[in-house]
Amino acid sequence: MLRILGKIQRIGIISEPLPPLNEPALTEIGEQLKARIGELFGGSLAIREVDAGSCNGCELEIQALNNSWYSIERFGVHFVASPRHADMLLVTGPVSRHMEEAIHRTLAATPEPRLVIAVGACGADGGEFGESYASRGAVANVIPVDAVIRGCPPTPVDLMRGILEAIGRP
Ligand code: SF4
Repeated sequence: MLRILGKIQRIGIISEPLPPLNEPALTEIGEQLKARIGELFGGSLAIREVDAGSCNGCELEIQALNNSWYSIERFGVHFVASPRHADMLLVTGPVSRHMEEAIHRTLAATPEPRLVIAVGACGADGGEFGESYASRGAVANVIPVDAVIRGCPPTPVDLMRGILEAIGRP
């Protein structure tokens, strides 16, 4: 233990300092989100993300919301493992035929009132993949959708803005 403490003292902090926040929209939208979530969801909005057949580009951006830069949990947004705990579904697409039944079951497992947001160009209208023998295309072709966040893929700030618009600006 003393050896480890001595080493820590000798080496000091070797990680780089956090660069200055150069994305003012992030804080601005985040604070609006926090206020709205406080009013409508008791300070905590639970989201279940569902990959209905995407290329995973949208998932990478959604996942970034949880990193230390965006840190969306500080604004009251939490990603949950089960639709039974969710207020909102974020669905990326296009919806593959193999995922169609799973999407219906996920929606049925999500308690009402709930919101469904289709994410990305694929979730919006099928995007690059469209409709085919393997793809149902837009999420709205399979389940009712309350809002759409476009982009290929949408950035984390686009996602935050879309979530804010879906729950309504104050
Ligand atoms: S919208 Fe773009 S990034 Fe998202 S699933 Fe479709 S092709 Fe991939």
